[in-house]
Amino acid sequence: MSAKEKLLVSACLIGENVKYNGKNNRIDISKLSNQYEIVPFCPEVEGGLPIPRPPSEIISSNPLKIINTSKEDVTNCFLTGAKKALEICKKLNIKKALLKENSPSCGKNFVYDGSFGKVLRGGQGATASMLSKNSIEIFNEFELKKLL
Ligand code: SF4
Repeated sequence: MSAKEKLLVSACLIGENVKYNGKNNRIDISKLSNQYEIVPFCPEVEGGLPIPRPPSEIISSNPLKIINTSKEDVTNCFLTGAKKALEICKKLNIKKALLKENSPSCGKNFVYDGSFGKVLRGGQGATASMLSKNSIEIFNEFELKKLL
């Protein structure tokens, strides 16, 4: 039997309590697990941020600047997490990632607009952007069927 393809997955989507508020965004990934070897990853935690942590938003995309509700510049932590995600994908030959929509790290199509007013805008999180620029195909939690 050939080995399953590996799939990087936002750790909060598999139920790990890594969200800023110490909770998770668990979804049913049982069908995916049959097909893929799941590799959970949380770029914000891997970038050195604690659990729980103040929520962050992208206030500028070019150059990238991300701040949290305590007005701390956390851009470097987000970039470190994004680089680590890419390193893992390269090391494990991962070509696809399932990432949590709307997150300043993992958002694929939308992120919050930097006003901390719960307003979404089009754009990608730091890790989603890093992976897609490096030819990793990314999917959000509403696109599970595309992965099956
Ligand atoms: S950074 Fe990504 S994996 Fe970590 S809690 Fe946020 S959405 Fe989930």
